[in-house]
Amino acid sequence: MKWFNRLLVRILPLFPKSFVWIFSKRYIAGIDLSDAIEKTKYLNADHILTTIDVLGEDITELEEAAQAREQCIKTVNAIRSNNLLAGLSIKLTQLGLCIDTEQCYKNVEAIVSHAERLDVFVRIDMEDSTTTDRTFDIYRRIRKKYRHVGIVVQAYLKRTKEDVRKLIDESISNIRICKGIYDENPEIAYKDADKIRKNYMEITEMALKSGEFTAIATHDKTLVESCQALIERLKLKADTYEYQMLIGVTEHLRSDIVKDGYPMRVYVPYGEQWHGYCMRRLKENPQVAGYVVKNIFIRN
Ligand SMILES: Cc1cc2nc3c(=O)[nH]c(=O)nc-3n(C[C@H](O)[C@H](O)[C@H](O)COP(=O)(O)OP(=O)(O)OC[C@H]3O[C@@H](n4cnc5c(N)ncnc54)[C@H](O)[C@@H]3O)c2cc1C
Repeated sequence: MKWFNRLLVRILPLFPKSFVWIFSKRYIAGIDLSDAIEKTKYLNADHILTTIDVLGEDITELEEAAQAREQCIKTVNAIRSNNLLAGLSIKLTQLGLCIDTEQCYKNVEAIVSHAERLDVFVRIDMEDSTTTDRTFDIYRRIRKKYRHVGIVVQAYLKRTKEDVRKLIDESISNIRICKGIYDENPEIAYKDADKIRKNYMEITEMALKSGEFTAIATHDKTLVESCQALIERLKLKADTYEYQMLIGVTEHLRSDIVKDGYPMRVYVPYGEQWHGYCMRRLKENPQVAGYVVKNIFIRN
């Protein structure tokens, strides 16, 4: 299937946006903030929390970073005024990380300080490995001043266990643990699925034992079940962890987790930049193209 996924990723940009939308809409709340609000209300009614993401990354002008900052602040306001059970996820490259680190920090601080006043939690997504150190630096600076903020770590990176150990030592390990979506070099990243799973579980155990809040972000049934066993063994209270999934992915598994009484949060991206976002996701990880096609034929 690999060749098919690669071929699909190559030819998809040649198709009109309206066609690509057929592939993408399952993974995006919509174009407007109101779409993300409606999707969150729908999920909240099913006892599922969300984290809303304003689509966009890798901008080239600081003006775009300022626009993204304002849209994030609008999103926080909408979360509060609609009394939603939701947080915000942000990407630092969308806020200027690769143009001006100091301005990026200021943008992040504007969002996080505002969100903290309104009691809305902000999660900093982790992007490709060229940004990892700078993302941790900004997180550490911001976390010194604000409590309503956490970060993401990627289990495929060989460095992650050590990064998490340091965050735990500094008592700032409010983390979302994911496998990682970018195509990284084998020198720095595990490529073997079992090695990634093993690292995922070791990191999760460290994080859950630390007592800081831990978000388990995966659709991998094996990992979900191993984490459930771990949660039961550690007798954890439901306010110290949660499962997280992407909108539109493995909804059956999601329902089972919720039915079993485990807390669940869904990642809800929205925005005009959906086309670029989907194309980048597909290029970074052609396997996703296979999932997308599968989902067109098999609805779960
Ligand atoms: C809430 C959340 C936030 C995330 N934040 C980040 C981040 O900040 N940085 C980062 O690098 N990565 C992030 N990711 C992506 C993550 O790193 C993985 O790439 C993604 O979750 C797939 O890994 P998996 O653990 O679900 O396992 P996989 O083995 O990839 O997937 C398990 C099963 O889930 C299904 N599945 C998984 N993905 C899809 C899909 N896109 N479409 C359809 N079916 C699918 C398939 O049935 C697959 O067999 C996030 C993921 C989640 C859930």
